Amino acid sequence: MCKSTKIKRIEFKTTFRTHSAIILNMIIFHHIADLKSYADKNIDLWKETGFVPTMGALHEGHLSLIANCKQQARLTIASIFVNPSQFNDVKDFEKYPNTLDKDIHLLIEAGCDVLFLPSVAEMYPNGWQTGKPYLLGSLETLLEGYYRPGHFQGVCQVVHRLLQIINPAHLFMGAKDFQQCMVVQRLIELENLAVSLHICPTLREDDGLAMSSRNMRLTEKERIIAGAIYREMQHIKASINTTPLRQLEGLSSKNLLVSGFKSVDYVSIANPTTLAPLETWNPNTPAVILVAAFLGEVRLIDNFHIS
Ligand code: AMP
Repeated sequence: MCKSTKIKRIEFKTTFRTHSAIILNMIIFHHIADLKSYADKNIDLWKETGFVPTMGALHEGHLSLIANCKQQARLTIASIFVNPSQFNDVKDFEKYPNTLDKDIHLLIEAGCDVLFLPSVAEMYPNGWQTGKPYLLGSLETLLEGYYRPGHFQGVCQVVHRLLQIINPAHLFMGAKDFQQCMVVQRLIELENLAVSLHICPTLREDDGLAMSSRNMRLTEKERIIAGAIYREMQHIKASINTTPLRQLEGLSSKNLLVSGFKSVDYVSIANPTTLAPLETWNPNTPAVILVAAFLGEVRLIDNFHIS
């Protein structure tokens, strides 16, 4: 058995199931050594592990990744770790929402088997500033790479470390962070990691706003304005046959500002394999619309694929 001092085992009686005797269990590990010792004792199960990394403040989008994972893996592991090395803006890091108790209950309800909940010291015993560089090419100079310098190095640092600790067979991430998925796929190839990346669809609110932990920081008024990103992406899709791409991007940026966004980092109609801007629209070639804009202090990103 694992050392009980270091592992909190949570038993949670569900209230919404008819047979009230059901007790759902999820093991929470704070320490790598305990997680590894559990993995060693469950080696066959672990070979078919699926992993969902998160920064917490969970919503239905995260839970859809857990559901996807449960369908394809025998053991579902989630992590909650707000990684300091991927925040290029200290204020964004400091204000990152923390709803840990609720997150734990949501994960139990979703049927997550294991939660890895490390501290910064556990993840980075030598400090997080000492990471090695990853060769990400143009992924680091385009769009999010350009507007958030160092962000994807931090993403690679944390995902690489988590994959080394957990060693899952499957990794589940959201298409909401499309460029991040491309970066993680590149990391897997660069480091020759034995894990399959599964990219799951973006879950949206009724007005089309992509669910995001950062949405919690929007005021009521901003929350209403936020739906404009999805509307603009739909407008681009509807007009793409008749209007030049740069004109569409410019018009959407302007519309977002008029709606109440403080600034627009980009609206880009791009090649989904390279993220380079498409010169012209060809209905036989896939395209992705990517948007990043500030609503007050909150930076929202989204994307939509058209083919
Ligand atoms: P985060 O906690 O923001 O780091 O997100 C953890 C994972 O959840 C990432 O793989 C995200 O892409 C994914 N995710 C975030 N929002 C959504 C969403 N609305 N739909 C699906 N997946 C999402």
